[in-house]
Amino acid sequence: MASERSPQRLSRIASVATSVSPRDPIAGLPGIGPARAAALGEAGIVTVLDLLLHLPFRYEDRTTLAAIAQLGAEGPATTVKGTILSSRLIRTRRPGFTIFEAILDDGTGSLRLVFFNQPYLKQWLVAGRVVFVYGAPTLGKSFRRGLLMQNPELEMEDSGDSLAMGRVVPIYRKLPGLTPRLRRRLVAKLLDALGDRLPERLDPALLKRLALPPLGASLREAHFPGSAEGPADPRVWEGRTSAHLARLVFEEFLEFQLGLQRRRRERTALSAPVLAANDAIRARLRRILPFPLTGAQKRVVKEIRDDFLSGRPMMRLLQGDVGSGKTIVAFLASLLTAECGHQAAFMAPTEILAEQHAASIFKLLSGAGGGSSGWREGSGDRGLLGRFTPALLTGRVKGRPRAALLDALAGGRIDILIGTHALLEEPVAFHRLGFVVIDEQHRFGVAQRAALSSRVLATGDRPHVLVMSATPIPRSLALTLYGDLDVSTLDERPPGRTKVKTRVLPESERTMVFAEIEEEIGSGGQAYVVVPLVEESDKIEARAVEKHADDVRAALPNRRVGVVHGRMSSDEREKTMAEFVAGRLDVLAATTVIEVGVDVPNASYLIVENAERFGLAQLHQLRGRVGRGRRASRCVLLFGPNASAEARERLDVLAKTDDGFVVAEEDLERRGPGDALGTRQSGVPIFRVGDLVRDVKWMRQAHAEARKLLAEKRDAPFADPLFFSKGAASSSD
Ligand code: ADP
Ligand code: MG
Repeated sequence: MASERSPQRLSRIASVATSVSPRDPIAGLPGIGPARAAALGEAGIVTVLDLLLHLPFRYEDRTTLAAIAQLGAEGPATTVKGTILSSRLIRTRRPGFTIFEAILDDGTGSLRLVFFNQPYLKQWLVAGRVVFVYGAPTLGKSFRRGLLMQNPELEMEDSGDSLAMGRVVPIYRKLPGLTPRLRRRLVAKLLDALGDRLPERLDPALLKRLALPPLGASLREAHFPGSAEGPADPRVWEGRTSAHLARLVFEEFLEFQLGLQRRRRERTALSAPVLAANDAIRARLRRILPFPLTGAQKRVVKEIRDDFLSGRPMMRLLQGDVGSGKTIVAFLASLLTAECGHQAAFMAPTEILAEQHAASIFKLLSGAGGGSSGWREGSGDRGLLGRFTPALLTGRVKGRPRAALLDALAGGRIDILIGTHALLEEPVAFHRLGFVVIDEQHRFGVAQRAALSSRVLATGDRPHVLVMSATPIPRSLALTLYGDLDVSTLDERPPGRTKVKTRVLPESERTMVFAEIEEEIGSGGQAYVVVPLVEESDKIEARAVEKHADDVRAALPNRRVGVVHGRMSSDEREKTMAEFVAGRLDVLAATTVIEVGVDVPNASYLIVENAERFGLAQLHQLRGRVGRGRRASRCVLLFGPNASAEARERLDVLAKTDDGFVVAEEDLERRGPGDALGTRQSGVPIFRVGDLVRDVKWMRQAHAEARKLLAEKRDAPFADPLFFSKGAASSSD
């Protein structure tokens, strides 16, 4: 841990070879042995450039020295320069625990430096030595009276180039095996050794036009502000207004945009089946519609139909707020696919949802309507069930039925296959896959999404792909994240919907809330009670929900209360859900398993316990479980006694708006894109330098420049990725 403090190791770092090149592995650099290199590799730092692109997350201004006489107790962290008067190592009674003390004097006064468990300092902080220290002064207690600093940072005056004192000092997020001191030395030496051999991929004209500095200068300034040109002002970095930072952000975004746009171009060179709807087909599809489509739905169906005719694989995102009616659009496109002799695959993130979709399409095909709000039984002769065969494939379909299903699928006897990620498993083979729907796409990983869409048909064609999301991507981000997709938006709700009345209330109002629920049920409605996950563990989750359900039962003694959570078998869960759908349960106590897609139009009251623990976007999704039918609906967000004022203010956003886009923008503002969108899950790219929220103007710029570079075939310098090489950054699909 502390071995790099030893003078020998530091002097070895003085010898980074001048032949080092930016893409060299860091393994083998002075101070980076195999163990350190392996640990750093885990953290995505493999090459010299990886290390250099890992920028400080803040800076400390240690430019001005303070006089010891002027230090106040409990003052801010300060730099002091002085001479060591005396020092001593104290062995304590606790084995292995040592205290090293030194008295530092700068002519105005003296200061006690106290170090725990750093006995080796004894050889270093000897009387007469001149050192810089940086730390927060405090007032000693009992026998150690007077001003002192505990474990301050140290720098020898005679260490030559001082990196940690008398200047603006970079502060890095921790990397395994690299202490700040070793890190700063290594970065400084690497930048020196590389000199002007850092790859410059932006041509001079572009740099001039955008008023951006060259890469070398930007990296130097990023790590050691004031080294390329003074005076150093850390605020331009922290406020993200530095041109040097902008240069790095722009280059990263440009590389990203080039990747997206290249993929888009490659796709247009692929072929896909032409799926053309003639009049007879359209008439048949129109006849089974359970309700007239909204204007927005009609528009999107037309967009998909056009893509189906193009002979190129569609890659389209359908985004629309919860309840905007995305499912029927995807069903129509699936049926059109089947009419044209191809198969459709419809992938949903949960079994509940897959089962619900399967039930809906079965009803749609039997001519009984596709939405639970409009289900009509019977009248089979108008249906298409004799014509097309749908099937459901989840992890629960096993053994002989599964084998039979797979056989039918491969033989082309199944037209529409609905399921979970079970669809991706080997040996699920299609006969003529023409169209893929991925519902709630943010729930799937990038690789899972790619797995279906990259299937190649016997003809060499690729299937058309529609990904659907109810997490409205804020407009400022859509370009960024989906630069390689076409985007359709359902911006109109089906008729007859009323706004969900949303209130934010303290837990102490629960009695009142349950009185309202009692009344709501009395007048024919149903309610959800959502409980947050207490722990990651399913077991504890199950107990928490069960216990909560008991409380609900006690509060509503005459009502039927069911429970669903992630710990139940899907059989039990489905049974309970079915009871709720059928109206045989009045209240459903649940975890967020009901978050996506579940459609019970009669449910009209939703309360969320400890709402402060959820993100806004997630709460908006949950709220989407009510207000799906014609009943006026209410949503109550209960916050616990420990909820901060800020958390309550955040919840108020939901009370004010029910527009998913507004909610998403707010969530983004408040939490940053990673939190708001669930970076890991959503496949949102993680940038090393750029900030999707604060640097959005550079993303726009990068989008435009990437187009130009590709059109003029000047993208060759970017063939080798710099920012999106192996390391920590991931790219979206
Ligand atoms: P989401 O976009 O959240 O997936 P769904 O597709 O589940 O929304 O639709 C929500 C509800 O609205 C369903 O009950 C569906 O049957 C109904 N619905 C969809 N489109 C219409 C429409 N044009 N008219 C009436 N009801 C509709
Ligand atoms: Mg849906």
